[in-house]
Amino acid sequence: MRIEHTVPPMTEHSKIFWWLVFLLVMVTGEVVQAQTAFLDRYPDIREESLTKRRFSHHQIQELIQKLPPDVFQVDSLGASIEGKAIYSIRIGKGPQKVLLWSQMHGDEPTATMAIFDILNYLMYETAQGRVPSFLQELSLCFIPMLNPDGADRFRRRNALNVDLNRDALRSQSPEAFILKTMRDTLQPDWGFNLHDQNRYTSAGKTHHTASISFLAPAYNEAKDWDQKREDAMRLIASMNAALQPFVPDQVGRYSDEFEPRAFGDNIQKWGTRTILIETGGRRGDLEKQYLRKMNYLALLTAFEAIKEKRYAAFTLKDYEQIPYNSRRLHELIIRKARLELDKMYTLDLAFRNQEVEWKDTFWTRAGISDIGDLHNYYGYTEFDASGLLIQIGAASEHTYVGDALSEIDPRKLLAEGITYLRIDRIPTLDDRLTMPQMYLLGPGEDPPVHLDLGHNPSLVLRTNLGDIHSVIVNGRLIQF
Ligand SMILES: [Zn+2]
Repeated sequence: MRIEHTVPPMTEHSKIFWWLVFLLVMVTGEVVQAQTAFLDRYPDIREESLTKRRFSHHQIQELIQKLPPDVFQVDSLGASIEGKAIYSIRIGKGPQKVLLWSQMHGDEPTATMAIFDILNYLMYETAQGRVPSFLQELSLCFIPMLNPDGADRFRRRNALNVDLNRDALRSQSPEAFILKTMRDTLQPDWGFNLHDQNRYTSAGKTHHTASISFLAPAYNEAKDWDQKREDAMRLIASMNAALQPFVPDQVGRYSDEFEPRAFGDNIQKWGTRTILIETGGRRGDLEKQYLRKMNYLALLTAFEAIKEKRYAAFTLKDYEQIPYNSRRLHELIIRKARLELDKMYTLDLAFRNQEVEWKDTFWTRAGISDIGDLHNYYGYTEFDASGLLIQIGAASEHTYVGDALSEIDPRKLLAEGITYLRIDRIPTLDDRLTMPQMYLLGPGEDPPVHLDLGHNPSLVLRTNLGDIHSVIVNGRLIQF
């Protein structure tokens, strides 16, 4: 018996469906091509003088002064409280105006690095006679490092100790006034508000870092959507699609709680389609050099998507499928250690690090961030201590005098369970950096007795036989 497979005639609906599929394939192909071109070019154009998160206003000023005037229009927009110039850099003559500002929080520098990569890209392409086609449709205006006084101290706030992102309405700080004035004169169609977020932010309630998070900020308490906010959401969905192959599942969505004093929320309210980008953490990328490249990729992809109106192909559902930011991450989690007090307790113990500014760099100070059942929280480093006893380490009997620190073999002492070293003075940061493997105690100091939140005890993990299995000093696990 033969079974006839009859093909029903194409309905109008299915014609439209397949036409859309065809368009999507075409569009996706083009997008991938453009992305590949941006990334292929990256090693040639990466701004080599910026290699770490800490760089000065002086450094970026030198870069700005070297920009060729036949390619970019550079203007000084005014100065910070301490008199450091804030610049705009413009390129493109298209009808759609795009304003991008970075580092309004001084210790959030990733996008500033990416902006200089993008400027190099534009310069390089122009010099090769390949002016990027999005410059026909867009006029780009960059304000890198809006908060130079904060940046030079690597801290969030400006020299007045004002958070610029709570000064959008009053604009009392000169830096906030500069951004507000630029917004009012330029009346941009699109705005990119470029920040960094905590490295312990996760994408959803998962172990994935939120390496990049996006938000189309709300413009009122009710978090209503209008056409412009929806456009921003669709553009974010297109940027997310571009990033997923490179940071899979590591893209998050920032909370859209309305903050009436913030720039992003107000600029959205004042009629600019606003996109917040927050760069978070990533395993093995403390200085965020990979994530800086992701900023570069996301922004260039966005310029293309605006030019071609490609964002319109994305839906609000695509935006809403990006998981909300959560805070599921710690630096270190020690799981299921046994702590002996009045009885035996089984506990997970987590540490997070804080960066403390020191000379031109920083050192990290760890602190206990949580204790208890942390099975649904995750660590950049995790260790299963099942069956091991956790104890606060012992202090050296000997007090070390003068330069004796540099002659100590810390591993020998740690192997005996001694994690605290007594010295004859109040430990300086230089002392701590000479001997980072042990916790230094000054005169009259003793090891702590309890495991307290926020404190930084040095710990030992012992086997049932009493042997030292490993130690934890300043939130770092050292195994024997
Ligand atoms: Zn910020």
